[in-house]
Amino acid sequence: MPTLGVGMAPGDSGTSHASSYTFRRGCRRLALLESSGTRQWHPAPVRCAGFWRGEGYAGARAGNHVENRGRKGVARAASGSDFCYHPATYRVAKGWLRAQPRNLTKATLHLRILVANPRGFCAGVDRAIKIVDMALEVFEPPIYVRREIVHNSHVVGDFRRKGVIFVDELSEVPNGGVAVLSAHGVAPEVFEQAEARSLKLIDATCPLVTKVHLEVHRFVRQGYHIVLIGHAGHDEVIGTMGEAPGEITLVENEQQARAIDLSRHAKLMVLTQTTLGVDDTRGVIDALRERYPKLDLPPTDDVCYATQNRQDAVKALTDRGVELLLVVGSSNSSNAARLVEVGQSRAVSGYLIDGPDQIEATWLDGVTAVGVSAGASTPEHVVQQVIEFLREHGGSEAETVTTVEEDTVFQVPVELRIAMEKKGGGNVKI
Ligand code: SF4
Repeated sequence: MPTLGVGMAPGDSGTSHASSYTFRRGCRRLALLESSGTRQWHPAPVRCAGFWRGEGYAGARAGNHVENRGRKGVARAASGSDFCYHPATYRVAKGWLRAQPRNLTKATLHLRILVANPRGFCAGVDRAIKIVDMALEVFEPPIYVRREIVHNSHVVGDFRRKGVIFVDELSEVPNGGVAVLSAHGVAPEVFEQAEARSLKLIDATCPLVTKVHLEVHRFVRQGYHIVLIGHAGHDEVIGTMGEAPGEITLVENEQQARAIDLSRHAKLMVLTQTTLGVDDTRGVIDALRERYPKLDLPPTDDVCYATQNRQDAVKALTDRGVELLLVVGSSNSSNAARLVEVGQSRAVSGYLIDGPDQIEATWLDGVTAVGVSAGASTPEHVVQQVIEFLREHGGSEAETVTTVEEDTVFQVPVELRIAMEKKGGGNVKI
């Protein structure tokens, strides 16, 4: 019998109520009872009639509660800020009031898990990781990497265990040592430092970041002042700004775009950090254009394909009605943080988590569908750990929501490839 659950706690004066529950037509569920701030789960089979076919249900987040206790009531479905009432009859199972309270983390939630595709590693991150793996095979340790090779604690931790030493600046690398530059790119002065110290330098800068660096030089030569949309202090922004000091103004948001005075520059060109929110970037450009109508844009967008695709995939999750978004990524990952914002901009609460241990049980309270995605620097095995956690806590088989299949691949530097071949190929799959 199709069931769902709701009911009053014993001894209540009428102020307590069953505030939310998870249900699906045809399944047995637990009712979550609230009483003076205390929440308890109870088995409470209830029969629901016609709820799922109710007009306006499509896209509804949850039928959050049945109102009017008794043998008949109405179920309330929330869709955005609109509520729809549907007839629902229910009956409270015998003995449910004597059920032991259960902790949410142990409750059977019957949670749908929707996983975004694309998610996780992009071509630039994949290439950077291969480069460090190859350097470990080709050169005698230690291998030094300037800054985090990609912004992910798991990737960095794995490399540390393999003997990689991460440094903030090349001045920490002994003369003649092997140093790898991270995927985020560096200013030209870093190459000069490497040359001065006779380092064996391997550049793992993502080709799409290099493209932005080359644009800086091209447009400055053409007499433009560059307006760079990005986040102050991010490694990529530091590297890009270093390409033409004094010729670039950083704008972080619409507020700054409305306040900044660029009137002394005859020609303005907008470039962007590759990992920004696509919609946010558009807002900043619009704000700039209101004040500087002749503002120019490069022929192709700087927000990279991987950023765009991952944000589109998160939008598809929100279109499928997820009520909670978990983005797997480290706190310093710009593109992962943007994914959370994309969900929040569509009224879906979201969290950036480095792994399953950061999930708080209360986030799942009353949630019937959770979306999972991952930033471009997040390894897939961590995503799978998160899915496994959700399954252990009432989740269904994960459903993949695909918006596009990616096939972009960036080649590793040819010198490294040749060095690997001389060594007999090594264990790195190129
Ligand atoms: S997110 Fe985009 S720019 Fe950054 S490393 Fe990946 S492909 Fe390159």
